[in-house]
Amino acid sequence: MPNFLHLPPELHVLIASFLPIGDRLQFRLTCAYLYELITRPSHEELLLTESTDWARNRDVYACRYCLRLRPAGLFADRMLRRRRGRSGRDSDKRFCIECGLQPREGTARYGPGAQLTIQGHFYVFCLSCRRFQPGAVDRLGRHTSECVECWRQPYS
Ligand SMILES: [Zn+2]
Ligand SMILES: [Zn+2]
Repeated sequence: MPNFLHLPPELHVLIASFLPIGDRLQFRLTCAYLYELITRPSHEELLLTESTDWARNRDVYACRYCLRLRPAGLFADRMLRRRRGRSGRDSDKRFCIECGLQPREGTARYGPGAQLTIQGHFYVFCLSCRRFQPGAVDRLGRHTSECVECWRQPYS
């Protein structure tokens, strides 16, 4: 469609309005021009999209803070389960790891010491180095609040 972008903007907006939401989101992401032109989806729209085949096939979920559909691997496992799962009662409370770690006002949820499981792997917002890293497990198999690197260093 070499001439598609030469159509007037009104037509682009009209075309987008006829697309199913999943396609509309993708259409919007095809170039900077369309990204600016087509309205950002609302949180409600994203939550509705979540239960479509389009979203299931891509394994994406909505984040309440960055208002994006993001791959499952960018959320802590417990954000994708039970009431926070797809179409769950609390799915509107779900947020991605990135948003959880960012100290933006009112949105920081994961403080130092936070332990997260992501796709079955243990991560920690390390109490010592304050980095988000694979977490250390103690001799009894319990999750610690330190990363693997810090845990191995002998205490002085
Ligand atoms: Zn987010
Ligand atoms: Zn550390």
